[in-house]
Amino acid sequence: MTIQEQYDLLEKTVRGYNPAADFAQIRAAFDYADKCHEGQKRKSGEPYIIHPLAVAQIVAEELKLDSESIEAALLHDVIEDTAATHEDVAKLFSPTIADLVEGVSKLTRIQYATKEDEQMENLRKMLIAMSKDIRVILIKISDRLHNMRTMEYQSPAKQKQKSLETMEIYAPIAHRLGMQRMKWELEDLSLKYLDPIGYDEIVSKLGEKQQEYEAFMQRTQQQIDERLNELGIQHIVYGRMKHPYSIYRKMFNQNKSLDEIFDLFAFRVIVENVGDCYNVLGVIHDIYKPILGRFKDYIGTPKPNGYQSLHTTVMGTDGYPFEVQIRTREMHEIAEYGVAAHWKYKQNGQGAGTEGRYEWVRRLLENQEGADAEDFIHSLKVDMFSDEVFVFTPNGDVQNLPAGATPIDFAYAIHSAVGNHMVGAKVNNRIVTFDHILKNGDIVEILTSKAAKGPSRDWMKIAKSSEARSKIRQWFKKEKKAENIVNGRSAFEAELKHCGLSMKDVAASENLPGLLKKVSYSSLDEMYAAIGYGGFTAQKAVSRMQGELQRIAKQHQIEQQALEAAEQPAGKHEEPAPAPKHVKSEQGIIVEGLDNCLVKFSKCCTPVPGDEIVGFITRGYGVSVHRADCPNAARRDDPEQAGRWIKVSWGSDTNDSYPTILEVICKDRANLLLDISAALSTTNTFVLGINTRSTEDGFALCRVEVRVRDGLQLKTLMNKLNQISGVLRVTRPAG
Ligand code: MN
Repeated sequence: MTIQEQYDLLEKTVRGYNPAADFAQIRAAFDYADKCHEGQKRKSGEPYIIHPLAVAQIVAEELKLDSESIEAALLHDVIEDTAATHEDVAKLFSPTIADLVEGVSKLTRIQYATKEDEQMENLRKMLIAMSKDIRVILIKISDRLHNMRTMEYQSPAKQKQKSLETMEIYAPIAHRLGMQRMKWELEDLSLKYLDPIGYDEIVSKLGEKQQEYEAFMQRTQQQIDERLNELGIQHIVYGRMKHPYSIYRKMFNQNKSLDEIFDLFAFRVIVENVGDCYNVLGVIHDIYKPILGRFKDYIGTPKPNGYQSLHTTVMGTDGYPFEVQIRTREMHEIAEYGVAAHWKYKQNGQGAGTEGRYEWVRRLLENQEGADAEDFIHSLKVDMFSDEVFVFTPNGDVQNLPAGATPIDFAYAIHSAVGNHMVGAKVNNRIVTFDHILKNGDIVEILTSKAAKGPSRDWMKIAKSSEARSKIRQWFKKEKKAENIVNGRSAFEAELKHCGLSMKDVAASENLPGLLKKVSYSSLDEMYAAIGYGGFTAQKAVSRMQGELQRIAKQHQIEQQALEAAEQPAGKHEEPAPAPKHVKSEQGIIVEGLDNCLVKFSKCCTPVPGDEIVGFITRGYGVSVHRADCPNAARRDDPEQAGRWIKVSWGSDTNDSYPTILEVICKDRANLLLDISAALSTTNTFVLGINTRSTEDGFALCRVEVRVRDGLQLKTLMNKLNQISGVLRVTRPAG
């Protein structure tokens, strides 16, 4: 093909999809490039202009881009490789075209190092350049595709280097932008130079079986075609072999031979509407047996890059499994040409606005300057788009937030202070509400004011990130302490009142330390503050203090009644004193003159019914009952304590049993404990514990804790213990 023929083909191709293209300008661009590159030769020996012409052909044929892109493709090497300047191109064509050419040149200038890190760094730089106008990267990928197609003329070292670069950088970008056809070709061409043996093996094996495979594919295509025609479903169906690199990767990853590769074949059915996609799926599953677990509905759930299709794998009649992809025409175009398809739709006025779906990709890439290159590669390789959203600060820094995030999340992600002083938010320069859901690529600006009131409690419900919520909670904890204390106090007092408890008792200096211990706060204000910001509740506080407060209330009652009794001179009762039998006992104890008195038995002398006893009015714990012979009770004549000792007696309704302690002193010998246990068991004594220790001089001291009904049972037990051989003494300790 002569150069003129090649140019004519280009015009024809452009005319085919864009009859309104500016052919005069395209011609001018070709002539200018031809003149600039005059005398330059490619490695193949052909005139250099062959290359820009071929790149423009790819841009037209594969990507169907606009006039400006065709012109820029024709001119893409003039700034880099000839005397022409940006200014020249801007003047002769347009500033936009000059920018496109300059953009492609910048990418060309990037020197790829062998180190992976630097490659990543360069990739990042390249992506930044690309983001200025997506057409730059589309032309650059077309340029690389043509270079790969003509790589045979380069040195082996250059072939390897360019192939690696293509595999690592350009193919993934083509994939990310949804340009599958170009991606496959880039991968296959790279593989050819990176692993010539592997590539040749696949290509030659596919060649050997070509006839068999082709016959199979033809038959299958015919079967599907006929069936869909019968049903009157408008469609296009065609089959393809998996491309060599995808087979290579499967063989390599799964360590399989070519024959073992599960699905070498893929068929594609393109229909008019989404409904037909599912109809066709039904038909396919009717003709062929579907392979379980291989159906994927990317129409219902599109891939993050916007890809839509139904995928299923079925078993063919010849025992070859194959994949079927079913999609509409529009889904197909987007899958094949990705961003370029959107570009085309926008340009032709049809499907306008769909480009906006990809707008954020460009802006995301544009704003990567401050980010760590490796992080970016990572996020590019992983499917980062499903549960995260990427937005920009006005400075172009990227903020990574959970999907569904709002300006509140953004503000707190920047800094707590930004969130706490936020008074408004702008997204893409427009004021939005705080619950506005952020989208990828949004530029978010937070309006702050020193006079801001701070966050509202509603923000906690609006915020999507736990980070924002916890920072808001922190603010309420710290900044609003005074308010929290007031709110917390009133909540606490209301709850106390609700439970019939007294605030006076809580605040009393002798009660407070014990009560605060119950709730683990160092002061009431601390507790109120916690209740106020939501870290603790009034209900919990009161329920933890309740038992203690009830005891205190009872104690007040005792003291009150004791006081009243003392004030009434003896014999001047206006009403007859109640008969003793009417007096209610508490745990079998009657406290003289007091009903419902809290009673506890002293630990020092453990009295049981029958013992002579006295009572002591404690501070806050009711009446403590001692044996009259307890050394602690000996102080009842002490004038200091005179008022606190009170007469108590055993009532007729004593408890079933009382705990008490015996001490047994005996000569230490074998089986002593066994004998003591036997004595306890023959007297049916309930044992709480036995503790024995030997003294240095051959004696054993045995402390027995038991429960007994009364003094009589205790006496019997003591006699029994005394009869044990070696026992010297059995006593009831006191004091
Ligand atoms: Mn080039």
